[in-house]
Amino acid sequence: MRSQRLKRLVPYTPGEQPQDRSYLKLNTNENPYPPSPLVEDVLASFAAADLRRYPDPRCLKLREGAAEEAGVDPDWVFAGNGSDEVLSLAFFSFFDSSRGPLLFPKHTYSFFPVYCNFYDIEYERIPLERDFSLEPSRFLDSPDSCGIVFPNPNAPTGIAVERGKIENLLEHYPNDRLVLVDEAYVDFGAESCVELCRVWSNLLVVQTVSKSKSLAGMRLGFAYGQPELIDALFAAKDSFNSYPVDAIAQAVGVAAMNDGPYYKSMSDRVIATRVRFTAALRELGWHVLPSKANFVFAAHPSLTGGEVYRLLKEQGILVRHFTSQEIERFVRITIGLPEDMETLSGALAQLA
Ligand code: PMP
Repeated sequence: MRSQRLKRLVPYTPGEQPQDRSYLKLNTNENPYPPSPLVEDVLASFAAADLRRYPDPRCLKLREGAAEEAGVDPDWVFAGNGSDEVLSLAFFSFFDSSRGPLLFPKHTYSFFPVYCNFYDIEYERIPLERDFSLEPSRFLDSPDSCGIVFPNPNAPTGIAVERGKIENLLEHYPNDRLVLVDEAYVDFGAESCVELCRVWSNLLVVQTVSKSKSLAGMRLGFAYGQPELIDALFAAKDSFNSYPVDAIAQAVGVAAMNDGPYYKSMSDRVIATRVRFTAALRELGWHVLPSKANFVFAAHPSLTGGEVYRLLKEQGILVRHFTSQEIERFVRITIGLPEDMETLSGALAQLA
């Protein structure tokens, strides 16, 4: 029954969401704090009768809210059903490997090769430095490419790239090829590139409400860029699904965009917990990469990531591990509440 097209695909594996028992879930980078109280107000007063109608296919109010928050005009903003969907539409719209492969870091968001497979885009992985940082100028070593994509901070390492290095990349990269910066975790301490879109017509920046805005269950993501790029995303969306962002998500999104101070203070708490937890792990002899995200990527002095993952799971704690050889020593641990991290530190102190 499956089409040849489908048979060729290798789907992305999302982090476990097990239903067998309750776990301390530190494996999918969700926010431990609730969304803004303004979000609750919108949900409480949402009129079910309004669901009779289709939502605004252009998400105008939502894009106005996101544009205001980012300091750009609404026609510089695209909204989609989670940033995964926005990324997928961007891959479809801008990357065409007849002009050379798409470049992305060797260790990065594992959805990137999945989209490439889906849209038949060849890709080349660019090595990270020995300390696992990403040096954007390395992308310039490949003579031909149809575009570049990387998260900032990178995942799963959590290491951020300074904006100046991204500017330098844009200065030297052909301006008829897209540079796509995935800022899923930017609010936990990295520098956003949205303002660089004014200068660079080939820069698209993607963000999400899933992490710093505590709305992973809502499925809402954005792209920021010059109107020509945004129009292209609309053309792709309207060839696929006219109404990807439902009416509740649009209303909730507007509220979330209106409560910057609340979210800033929640992100500050996550950052403070990350700093304390990083110090605690180092005390225990772990190697911890310097994170600007709401997770840390860390290696036990002797156990592999898979071993740590299994030992913790037995104790009801979920973290994420990876099988690729250079990073198999590591686990990725989401920053939860301070008490969650204390529970975890206690469990880690017992490991061999
Ligand atoms: N980019 C990166 C780097 C991520 O880790 C994630 C979360 N899995 C996403 C994008 C997608 O986030 P969402 O679809 O929830 O907006």
